[in-house]
Amino acid sequence: MDCWFDNEHRNLRRQIRAWVKNNLSPGDHGQGNLETNACRLANQLGQDGFMAYAVPSRFGGVRETVQARDLCLIREELAWGSALADVMFGVQALGSYPIALAGSEEQQRRYLPPLAKGERIAAFALTEPNAGSDVSAISTQAERDTNGYRLNGVKHFISNAGIAHTYVVFASTQPEAKAKGLSAFIVESNSAGFTVKEKTPLLSPHPIGVVAFDDCFVPQHQRLGGEGEGLKIALRTLDTLRCTVGAAAVGFAQRALDEAVGYSRKRRQFGHALAEFQGTQFKLADMATELEAARLLVHQAAWMNDQRHQELPLKSAIAKLFATEAAQRIVDQSLQIHGGNGVVVGNILERLYRDVRALRIYEGTSEIQRLIITKHLLKQEQPDGL
Ligand SMILES: Cc1cc2nc3c(=O)[nH]c(=O)nc-3n(C[C@H](O)[C@H](O)[C@H](O)COP(=O)(O)OP(=O)(O)OC[C@H]3O[C@@H](n4cnc5c(N)ncnc54)[C@H](O)[C@@H]3O)c2cc1C
Repeated sequence: MDCWFDNEHRNLRRQIRAWVKNNLSPGDHGQGNLETNACRLANQLGQDGFMAYAVPSRFGGVRETVQARDLCLIREELAWGSALADVMFGVQALGSYPIALAGSEEQQRRYLPPLAKGERIAAFALTEPNAGSDVSAISTQAERDTNGYRLNGVKHFISNAGIAHTYVVFASTQPEAKAKGLSAFIVESNSAGFTVKEKTPLLSPHPIGVVAFDDCFVPQHQRLGGEGEGLKIALRTLDTLRCTVGAAAVGFAQRALDEAVGYSRKRRQFGHALAEFQGTQFKLADMATELEAARLLVHQAAWMNDQRHQELPLKSAIAKLFATEAAQRIVDQSLQIHGGNGVVVGNILERLYRDVRALRIYEGTSEIQRLIITKHLLKQEQPDGL
């Protein structure tokens, strides 16, 4: 079952599981001030050594290179306990990874250690009002200026907008080249011309909003990679992080299944526990089967990432698509088993029902995963005789 992992991974799973058991408070489930709770979680996950798994060891991290298996194990366990804790870890990894991937020695030395400690918070700013699935429509521009660039444009749906200190921003340095003209920049939140325009409330606790660049000056030394390398940096980051979204889905689904098993044992109708009805048993069996398949796909994709396997983009897309769609079905079935109690505000199933939804949208919608999968299928050679 866990053939993709070694003892260090198993140890990490034990540690993060214990952390979830001992550290979560009501604020981690959406009560109280969202941003205060989000920052506290990011700081604590940093202090307790988990954010360090998103950074290479030379710059305050744990492993020589960042491993998707570590990220997946952490997200799976955090999502089991709290959607907000998962978001804070997942987005920190999303914002740190491009710097670990493409940053110069100087950039990595400056930005990664405080991110590894959770002292600073990261964000990844790709999406725009008119450029969601279609990255080639990005219109934020980075025009050359003396010793740097002037950024102009708007990004929306940016997780951690308003609480992040370090934004990795994708903007066009060559608009006529569309997606191939994108470049990546590290923008600090206190840069002149950078503003947070809106905080966007979502159905699940998740700090997110709109950021704008008005003649925002970014020095040349804060460009990440070469001019025109932005798309490559964004796609390689998403290839690695995509399976971790699947891992969060597995965490939510495992929690939904655990709750369904527990509730169906306790709740009695017609003189029997729900678990004694074959109709309930079949539901539980289907949920467990889908969950197992989702988990295997996610772990396989994470392992492939760590082996630098050439099929990673395909396997990562398959894992995200299946795990996030399956988790939605599993949570829905668990809620059904909970009957009316499942839709009462504050019930764990009501929470999971909201928490699981966005996973099918961010870091590439389910439809975009299908396009990636089919592109690979159509590229393959036909077997002999067909
Ligand atoms: C919770 C959350 C967190 C996010 N965090 C970040 C972040 O930190 N940084 C960031 O940059 N972005 C972030 N995003 C943005 C996210 O990546 C986009 O929402 C996503 O890529 C989809 O873009 P869109 O919302 O503009 O939808 P659209 O691209 O407008 O798509 C709308 C619908 O059309 C479908 N569609 C689009 N094109 C096709 C096609 N060719 N064929 C078939 N169907 C198609 C889509 O699948 C979708 O169902 C976040 C979004 C959410 C919801």
